[in-house]
Amino acid sequence: MIEFRHKDIQVDAIGRGGIETCYILPQFQLAFDTGRAPDNLIDIPRIFLTHGHLDHAAGLPYYISQRSLKHLPPPDIYCPAEITEPLGEILRLWQKIEGFSYEIKLNGLNVGDTVEIRKDLSVKALQSHHRVPCRGYAVMRKTRKLKDEFLHLPGREIKLMKDRGDKIFEDRDHPVFAFSGDTTIEFLRDNEAARNATVLFIECTYIDDKRPVARAREWGHIHLDEILENRHLFHNEKIVLTHFSKRYNRRYVMQVLGKKLNDEAFLERLYVLAHDH
Ligand SMILES: [Zn+2]
Ligand SMILES: [Zn+2]
Repeated sequence: MIEFRHKDIQVDAIGRGGIETCYILPQFQLAFDTGRAPDNLIDIPRIFLTHGHLDHAAGLPYYISQRSLKHLPPPDIYCPAEITEPLGEILRLWQKIEGFSYEIKLNGLNVGDTVEIRKDLSVKALQSHHRVPCRGYAVMRKTRKLKDEFLHLPGREIKLMKDRGDKIFEDRDHPVFAFSGDTTIEFLRDNEAARNATVLFIECTYIDDKRPVARAREWGHIHLDEILENRHLFHNEKIVLTHFSKRYNRRYVMQVLGKKLNDEAFLERLYVLAHDH
């Protein structure tokens, strides 16, 4: 597991394309995908599944069953609306096999649906493009901001207006974290929340010419070349490349990146989430 940190965003991450994906955000008490259910996932009360491929969702029954054994409350599971029914069926079958029952709270999400986590925090389902139904997600944080028309005023005038009880503030949602799930590069075009997220986790399954862009697109994935071509679209403070194919280790990814990218400023915003094998 890799511990990623940027300002107050912490992610305990496993991101190995085709093998296991699970991102735990402990401060928000939520996770994206179960992977094969690592130990520190069990205490997290809500999971957002991007899609049903087993490298992302295999741990779901184990996770639910473990929580039940530990007498933890039933978790909130969110998934693409299209797979709610088959997932429910599998979970019912596991209960039969295990010989005990657990309460399941399975909620299907369509693109644009929003789930309230707490007063100032929600998760929004984003459009992804994969070979099976897939949702990306953005964690939106509400912050109270001075309205644009008052931005130029000096501090004491603002204080006066505030004391008078004028409505000079408004609530704005800002994406503090976004995750693409498995998708083609169109994800970036379709989701403003992803382009503007403070931290963006985006899949980058293939990186070299042995597996070219056409191949990545055919399998519903992103190639490094497409990330670099579209780098003007990223307004993120940190861009985390993840879900690399198991063919590449970290050293090789860094090598290829060094060869293909000579943009220091962009390189500085990149974080390569690759595991050593
Ligand atoms: Zn995957
Ligand atoms: Zn997939």
